[in-house]
Amino acid sequence: MASTTNQELREWANQNGHRAVSDMVMLRDPPGVGVFNIAGEKAHIIAVAVRPESITKELKQGFFELAKTYGSPTVERKTGVLRIKVTGLHKKKRIEKLDAASVAMPSIISQLRLELLAACVHCGRGDTDTYIPAYQAPSPVHSTCEQAVITQMIEEIEESSLNGNYGTATVAALLGAVVGAIPAFIGIYVFDYFVGELFAIVPLGAAFAYRKARGIESRFMTIIIAIWSIIASVLLMLVNFYVYTFGWWWGMMTLDGVTIVTPLNIFFELLLSNIEYVILDMGMALVFCGLGISISWGYMSHTNKAKIKALQAKRDAVKAAHNETINH
Ligand SMILES: [Zn+2]
Repeated sequence: MASTTNQELREWANQNGHRAVSDMVMLRDPPGVGVFNIAGEKAHIIAVAVRPESITKELKQGFFELAKTYGSPTVERKTGVLRIKVTGLHKKKRIEKLDAASVAMPSIISQLRLELLAACVHCGRGDTDTYIPAYQAPSPVHSTCEQAVITQMIEEIEESSLNGNYGTATVAALLGAVVGAIPAFIGIYVFDYFVGELFAIVPLGAAFAYRKARGIESRFMTIIIAIWSIIASVLLMLVNFYVYTFGWWWGMMTLDGVTIVTPLNIFFELLLSNIEYVILDMGMALVFCGLGISISWGYMSHTNKAKIKALQAKRDAVKAAHNETINH
């Protein structure tokens, strides 16, 4: 889902002949300057990457001095990134600021004698042909190097999928769901109240345990987690009901003929005689469980297959930028 600021950044790039490279825009001139959209904020960032060791105190001061006219400058010595952030509630104003900052970039770069990164971040050689966004800064790469790195990542995920299992992971997921149901149980038992968000921990616990047990990440994972979460939530309500009955009988333990198994004996009796409340509670638990599943859906559905798909799309995007050669 593209945010409005992202869309206006793309429009601006199209109108000015700049080039979109994955989620970043590379200025037509000078090369090596990337523009990012800050999701959730009405802001854009112009960024360049230099060798971290080339950032001196003087250079930092100089950059602040020159860049503050155009926005809020920041310098990251660790990663060697210099940025100007332009903000503005109104689209037109913001684009005007972005224009001014991008037009000023060549002069800022030459005045400070910034040596923008030119060597490929993967192989260290020159003659790079594209950039990748890394930590909100453009990093030069050979498209072939970048593709090889992504291919290797895909292969590693595929390999880990092959070494995975269904059996142990399925059992682990049930345990994870049961453990994940404990906070919701405490919420009901201690506070006598449904805390809906706590039910989200049930599927999260199941997904976490499934992954920890090296389960194969496929659609099966999502389905088994949903099933175990529902079962764990129903169990939670039954246990809650039993504990409630038990607590009621605890006070009568001193009476003749009442033992620790007495609540178990009358548990089913009570369950049946209060069936309408039980069903109501179960229904509520299931609603919250469903809510929990939808809250944790992102984590659950981020399976290896989804990761591979995303990486393949990323690799294809690198190919698309391959034709243009960048000269430093
Ligand atoms: Zn390379």
